[in-house]
Amino acid sequence: MTRPFNFSAGPANLPEEVLRQAAGEMLDWHGSGMSVMEMSHRGKEFISIYESAEADFRELMAIPPHFKILFMQGGGLAENAIVPLNISRGSAADFVVTGSWSEKSQKEARKYCDVQVAASNSDNGHTLLPAPSGWKLRRDASYVHLCTNETINGVEFQALPDLRALGSNAPLVIDFSSHVASRPVDWSLVGLAFGGAQKNLGPAGVTLVVIREDLLGRSLPMCPSAFDYKTVADNQSMYNTPPTYSIYIAGLTFEWLKRQQEGNATGIAAMEVRNKTKAQLLYDAIDGSQLYVNKVGKDCRSRMNVPFFLRDESRNDAFLSGAKARGLLQLKGHKSVGGMRASIYNAMPLAGVQALVEYMREFEQKHA
Ligand SMILES: *Cc1c(COP(=O)(O)O)cnc(C)c1O
Repeated sequence: MTRPFNFSAGPANLPEEVLRQAAGEMLDWHGSGMSVMEMSHRGKEFISIYESAEADFRELMAIPPHFKILFMQGGGLAENAIVPLNISRGSAADFVVTGSWSEKSQKEARKYCDVQVAASNSDNGHTLLPAPSGWKLRRDASYVHLCTNETINGVEFQALPDLRALGSNAPLVIDFSSHVASRPVDWSLVGLAFGGAQKNLGPAGVTLVVIREDLLGRSLPMCPSAFDYKTVADNQSMYNTPPTYSIYIAGLTFEWLKRQQEGNATGIAAMEVRNKTKAQLLYDAIDGSQLYVNKVGKDCRSRMNVPFFLRDESRNDAFLSGAKARGLLQLKGHKSVGGMRASIYNAMPLAGVQALVEYMREFEQKHA
């Protein structure tokens, strides 16, 4: 059976190998007589799953030893509150607003700290990124928040800013929900990174947090214990029952990532090569057509989320139903933006993007 290609923005497609392995292990994990869903999170079976997942993520993402990896719940949206509850000390925090997700982040943080928007691209409809040299960063800011890939608007930072070079000693907080593991991260520039698993790592329900150790232990007294990074870190993410099945599937995805190769590149480096190729193919098809248009500046186009429009919007429904008939699923754009959106995460093979591009050409010819 060949499965359709699924372009959902999230929860999103998973590698077929991962799904098959999980299906094979569903009733009896490694001779334990139990499904992973049925295991105590404190038993040796699940502890081994957890420890492998953590070690594999650290290796894949080259996370230095002075960072903790936490497996939390509540998704990216809960982190919008959990971050200021933990590291703002109720004082200043600066936000770079580049689209829908960072906009939500700064709004939520206002409940807990003194928020300032240091830069925004709302005047250009979130299609260009504000240059770091123009950001208005406060000297006393407890952190600077950035969404490094705006899933809805399709803008992505191609490199992380160096806050020290901008005169700031504040830790950089990145929401990397929708491009985590699609490219390497320069951890020397980061204080904290968070991301829900359901875009690029696994099922919904688990949120990955990578935090520099010196940022632990600063939480506000009102911070819920289950969301206190130090409590979570001191308890190996098992202060309360973690989302065990989601962690298991994310762990299988990490193993899959470690097996990936492109030329001499392996793991995340291989994914970066493949993701560049996939994105280039799709953007070239859009730019080379008379019918489709992407409005994002070329130097900040997302490799993961590609929003595009039909110049003749009366054909949107025909485009979507024709795509579905060809096994190209979930291409409808986010309701706040409209048009189409193709999310081409790690698990989307090149063949999926080729099939989409071919369909787009045929659709354009038919309706020319
Ligand atoms: C999906 C997404 C979120 C929200 O994640 P939830 O798990 O729904 O809370 C936050 N930030 C970004 C960049 C996202 O793509």
